[in-house]
Amino acid sequence: MNRVQAITDAVVSKGIDGFLVSDLKNVRYLSGFSGSSGCLLITTKEKIFFTDFRYEEQTKKEVRGFDILIEKEERPKQVLKKAKSIGVKILGFETTVSYAFYRSLLKKGIRVKALSNTVEDMRKTKDRVELKFIAQAVERAQRAFIRSKPYIKRGVSERQIATRLEENLRKAGCGPLPFDIIVASGPNSAMPHARPTDKKINAGDLVVIDWGGEAGGYFSDMTRTFVMRGRDTSKQQEIYETVLRANVKAIGSVREGVHARMVDKTARDVIRKEGFGQFFGHGTGHGVGLDVHELPRVSRLGREYLKAGMVFTIEPGVYLPGFGGVRIEDMVVAENKGRSVLTSIPKGFEIIH
Ligand code: ZN
Ligand code: ZN
Repeated sequence: MNRVQAITDAVVSKGIDGFLVSDLKNVRYLSGFSGSSGCLLITTKEKIFFTDFRYEEQTKKEVRGFDILIEKEERPKQVLKKAKSIGVKILGFETTVSYAFYRSLLKKGIRVKALSNTVEDMRKTKDRVELKFIAQAVERAQRAFIRSKPYIKRGVSERQIATRLEENLRKAGCGPLPFDIIVASGPNSAMPHARPTDKKINAGDLVVIDWGGEAGGYFSDMTRTFVMRGRDTSKQQEIYETVLRANVKAIGSVREGVHARMVDKTARDVIRKEGFGQFFGHGTGHGVGLDVHELPRVSRLGREYLKAGMVFTIEPGVYLPGFGGVRIEDMVVAENKGRSVLTSIPKGFEIIH
């Protein structure tokens, strides 16, 4: 079914007669608009795209299936005026709007109703075109990484590696990157969201690199961890092998009909049995698409059974404070009878000399 049609059906089933879509990724998903200012008003009869004059040309090129309205006054006023004129009595809006925007919707004559995850729930399952872009975002990220890898060596700083990788992501064709690249070495790697510093890579360091690519507005997200040659790297290897087993087992558990929480538990059980349970503090994975963190959640907070076409990460990790951490992150697509793994760069334990 057509995306906008599905939203129109949702409008009816939620007891509203108009739906205001303001989240820019949701706007893009429904209309094709990739700019940074616009919103949609959808009723059973009307589909209206609002933007300001700066985006008039881009809108003409990108937006399909909507009447275009170039705003002459502030957006909330303009939206309410239009909604009234087409007979909307109860206007649904997304819970992600700003408080100021919400306040300005509270005008006499129209009731408003907050709706959460209406479009986000649709976005969880990817169609063929989306899967193609995601695969391309993975391919670009991998190509950039393979080019940057020789640069990972002792004496080079985390920041230098991140800069090199970013350059190569651009060269591979990526537009806006999903997030700032993480390069974390030695004790820094014990922080799951470390920012690259001027610390130089030392012998024996665990080096966690977490990065993503982009294609057609869709993102990819992956992590690899390496060990720098040192006198004794057995502890690093022990953690690594544990995380790798958790990653492989969790990936193996993915298929349509399995609960997202079970995939998380599969990874968590492996790590707990090795005695590292308390050092795996984050969820096992998250959906990836137009946003790099979207539904479904593959964690203890997961709310759903997996469906074919859902794309998400599997990224267990173990982080030992003061020592270092390991995370291995792949992207998978859930399928009827299993899954396909999108990430293909090697993930076996590797010592860099
Ligand atoms: Zn990541
Ligand atoms: Zn991730």
